[in-house]
Amino acid sequence: MAIFIYNTLSRSKERFVPIDSEEVRMFVCGQTVYDEAHMGHAKTYIDFDIVVRWLRSSGYKVKYIQNITDVDDKIIARAEEKQMTPTALARKYEGLFLEDMEAIGVRENVDLYPRSHDYIGAIRDQIQLLFDNGYAYAVGDNAYYDVSKFRDYTKLSGMKIEELKKHRIESPEGKRNVYDFALWKAVKKETEPQWEIEVVIEGERRKLRGRPGWHIEDTAIVHSFFGPQYDLHGGASELIFPHHTNEIAQSEAAFGISPYVKYWMHSGVFNIRGEKMSKSLRNYISIREVLSKHGPEDIRMAICSTHYRKDIEYREEIISNAARRVNYLYASMSSFYNMKEGQGDRDGEALAIASRMDVGFKEAMDDDFNTPLALSRLEIAAGELKDFAESNDAIGEGTKIAIVDAIRKKAWVLGLLENDSFKEPLPEEARKMIGEREEMRKKRKFEESDRIRDDIRSRFGIELEDTEQGTAWSRKSWRGKGRTG
Ligand SMILES: [Zn+2]
Repeated sequence: MAIFIYNTLSRSKERFVPIDSEEVRMFVCGQTVYDEAHMGHAKTYIDFDIVVRWLRSSGYKVKYIQNITDVDDKIIARAEEKQMTPTALARKYEGLFLEDMEAIGVRENVDLYPRSHDYIGAIRDQIQLLFDNGYAYAVGDNAYYDVSKFRDYTKLSGMKIEELKKHRIESPEGKRNVYDFALWKAVKKETEPQWEIEVVIEGERRKLRGRPGWHIEDTAIVHSFFGPQYDLHGGASELIFPHHTNEIAQSEAAFGISPYVKYWMHSGVFNIRGEKMSKSLRNYISIREVLSKHGPEDIRMAICSTHYRKDIEYREEIISNAARRVNYLYASMSSFYNMKEGQGDRDGEALAIASRMDVGFKEAMDDDFNTPLALSRLEIAAGELKDFAESNDAIGEGTKIAIVDAIRKKAWVLGLLENDSFKEPLPEEARKMIGEREEMRKKRKFEESDRIRDDIRSRFGIELEDTEQGTAWSRKSWRGKGRTG
């Protein structure tokens, strides 16, 4: 069985065959660090985090790079607004971004976060190649890419060249075609971050003072690590045009190797009230804001319960519903884990639950990372194990550990069940109190029952929720990190 990936370039699912059998090379466009990271970013980076986790757990060695865009017009504009230097502003938001990525379990799986700032030499070299090959031209200290020279410019987006013209918002002054894009931007204000690069244009040495365009930052950085061709490039669907379209035009024109990337993967976006959540529209919910009320696993559950290629409409309920599903997984595993160990007559049944889950989970993930289906297979198995725990007296110790391991290995791919505290049983005293509280509720003594609930929370850190099936208990720690082994 192989992994199949939907490739934006071919608009079809293709069998995944890495270029180099030793190592898969994967790149995802990183953050432009000028503001807080929001739930839209959480979706992109969690979607691709699941991709890399699944590839690795399927036995591939993967080198995974995400860049940090720290030279950009938006950074300069925001720095001016905040009366900071662009570099200080970029460092500040880079720090916050990496903290957020750590909190939601993404950072640990990215091998490298290179900054554009450190690759000006590589950017110059790539611009030089584009001049040499006849794709670049200079207007003053600006360098532009001549889109009319590159055949197949629209192969990724499938757009008509006429449509492109509508999307260009930059002033076309001095450009040969309105849809030509900047490789190097001349200094507009002395306070801007700037470099002087030397290039040779038609045999003549020229110094261009300014800063790189956004698209060339990415291709130059990636080329430094992966060369002119690699396996996987990911990003949100909004980047297909112009960003990824321009990345292809640059790299293929500079190095003459096609395709630049073998598999192009694009994830859906987070919408809010029907509009895309974005920093520029300022209609976003930050990751921090959500983390102040919910656990990181709640966020991951909310995101992986929709297929990565689909958009999600943001509502507060999607996170609270996800939290309930996270609790259910933990509570089920807690009942199973805390079963009495001993001679179990029906161990085989429990093992069968785990192996059905194993097969089903893999089948779903191999089919273009179908996380909602994989997740449901995990939840079904958790529910079956909970039922098993309730209807059987004991289970063999080795069997139990093997099953818990199998479940957690798959849950890890989604970033769930990462906290060990499910191993702690519900304390006897708390169990008694829950029983008493149920009596109170039956007698409609709600004040009493609320008092007991508060008591359980403060003494044991245990939350209670009344559901149709009775009282469910959970620990706050269940929805966050805390794995010890
Ligand atoms: Zn990019």
